[in-house]
Amino acid sequence: MKPYPQAYDPWLKERLCDVPEETLATCDQCAMVNPSGVTRDPGPFLNHLKCCTYFPYLPNFSLGALSLDDLQKAAARGIYLPVGLYPSIAEQNKISALGADGFGKRSELLCPFFDGNRNQCSIWTYRPGVCTSYFCKSNQGKKGLNFWKQIEDYLNQFEWTLACRVLEKMNFDENTLSYCQAAISEDTEPEERDFFVNEAWGDWISNQHDFYKQARQTALQITADELELELFE
Ligand code: SF4
Ligand code: SF4
Repeated sequence: MKPYPQAYDPWLKERLCDVPEETLATCDQCAMVNPSGVTRDPGPFLNHLKCCTYFPYLPNFSLGALSLDDLQKAAARGIYLPVGLYPSIAEQNKISALGADGFGKRSELLCPFFDGNRNQCSIWTYRPGVCTSYFCKSNQGKKGLNFWKQIEDYLNQFEWTLACRVLEKMNFDENTLSYCQAAISEDTEPEERDFFVNEAWGDWISNQHDFYKQARQTALQITADELELELFE
């Protein structure tokens, strides 16, 4: 079993080895509807929400594999930036207001990429590391849950490093990351937010889908060695 999306194979297959199957997280019949034993979160979760009451960061190179229709799903609730997709300020406020108690329980928090008709993720192949490494239960109990947290940290670092390297390769301004951070900061005045979004995008502002597609192609030319990715120990 790979602990990351198959789409990350080009960079991670020699850095992050297969891990034992987890059989207790029975996603089709969500194990957290009636939680028992050692669980990562207290639950219970609602079956039509599961653990997808979350708005994940998606790096630019993953967004480049999604269709325009897929990107549209998050347009109203997210901010698309050169480094990737983030929840909008309104979304961040909602997440803060509902807090951890809303996880698995509040439909307002459901991920924009969740397909309610099929009761599953609509971007499964390209879901980010935070999703592939979430296990509500582990066959190894608490030790296994701690292991998955380490995998999550590793994947977060990988995604961020590669997304930033893509921007460098595509000759983005050295201030781009600062503009991105200002665009998603609660401290930025509302009238200034568009300025930072525009500055972050530069000439790509009206051509974001093409940018993400090019970001994906650029990422595929960057090797794990070039990223100086360490082995997961
Ligand atoms: S990992 Fe998520 S979907 Fe799968 S069983 Fe656990 S809570 Fe349910
Ligand atoms: S990207 Fe997919 S797996 Fe991750 S939270 Fe959204 S719907 Fe769930």
